[in-house]
Amino acid sequence: MKKIAFFVLGLLALASCQTRQAQAGYIVQVSLGPWNAPAYSAGQIISRIDSVSNLIPVEKVIIGWSLEKDLYREVGEYLHGKGIKMLCWLPVFAETEEVCESTPAVDLWGRIPGNFNLTSGEAFRFNCPSDPANAAAIVAVYDREFGDCGFDGVFLDRIRTQSFVGGVSGVLSCGCADCVARYAAEGVDLEAVKAAWEAEGDAFLSVSGYAPETGFTFVNPLAADFFRAKGHIVSNGVAAVADSLRSRGLEVGMDLFAPFMAPFVGQDYAILAQHADFVKPMLYRKTTAPAGMGFEYELLRTSAPGAHGFEGLVLSWNIMEAPEAHIACLGQ
Ligand SMILES: [Zn+2]
Repeated sequence: MKKIAFFVLGLLALASCQTRQAQAGYIVQVSLGPWNAPAYSAGQIISRIDSVSNLIPVEKVIIGWSLEKDLYREVGEYLHGKGIKMLCWLPVFAETEEVCESTPAVDLWGRIPGNFNLTSGEAFRFNCPSDPANAAAIVAVYDREFGDCGFDGVFLDRIRTQSFVGGVSGVLSCGCADCVARYAAEGVDLEAVKAAWEAEGDAFLSVSGYAPETGFTFVNPLAADFFRAKGHIVSNGVAAVADSLRSRGLEVGMDLFAPFMAPFVGQDYAILAQHADFVKPMLYRKTTAPAGMGFEYELLRTSAPGAHGFEGLVLSWNIMEAPEAHIACLGQ
C-alpha cells in the first residue's frame, strides 16, 4: 500500500512539475560579485544558462554588478538570440560608495548605523533615501556603466534602509535634515520619536497584532505613524529611481524584504508594486545573512528584547513525523 501511495505521489509531483513548466518561465540570477572583476567569464555564464535552459524555461537573467561591459554585451547577445531578457542587477541605496558620491543615512542621533560584516568582510553602508542627489547618482551610474550594454531592464536591490542588522539605530533611520522635513510633511516629528524611544526603550517597538494587508499593529500610535511615514518616504525614493530608469524603456524588477519585516526597512509593498513590473520578496527561510527571515527576526528579538513581539511557536504540521533532531534543537 505504501508503495502505491509513493508511486501516486511521485506521479503527482511529476504532473505538478510539468504544469509549472508549461505555465511560467523562470528568472535566474547570476552573481558576478560587486564592482570589481567578475566571478565568471562570459563563456562560463553562457554554458551554464545553456544547460539550465535544458531543464527549465529561462525567461530572464538578472546579472550584475561587476563593471565589465564586454561581458554583458557577449552574454546579452547570446540571451537575446534565445529570446531571453537580460536585466541589470543594480544596488540603489547601499554599496555605491565605489562608483558615486552619496550622502549616508544616519540614525535619529545623527550617527551612521553599524554595518553588517560577514566573515567574508561583506559590509554595506546605506545612503539617505530622501536625498535626490543620491537617486540621480545611481541612475547616472546605470547610464555610464551599463546603459550601452544591451540590458532590457534593471533589477533594483538594496532599496531600503538598514535593518536590525544595525540594531534599533538602523531601523530608526534616516534622521538627516532632509528626512526630518519629509517626516514632518507626513505629520511625524522625529524629535518626538527620539524622545519616545529614549523614554520607552524596546516597548516603543511592541506590537499587538498583524494583518497581511496592513502589517503590524504597533501599540504606540507614534511608532505606527513613524513606520507608515518611513514606508512612504523610502518607497517614494525608490519609485523615483524606478521611474527614471523606466523612462529609458527598461523593465523594472525589485528585491523586497519578506512582507512581515518590510515595514521596518521602509518598504511599502503597495507603493513599490506600482513602480515595478515584478517584485521578488526575499523569503529566505534559512539564510543567515541580511533579509534571511529567521536571521532578521532573531536580530529584532536581540536588538529589542523588551518589545512584545509575538511569542511561542507552532510546530507544523505533524509531530508524528518530525525528526527528533529538529525537535531537540528547539530545546537547546
Ligand atoms: Zn536622510
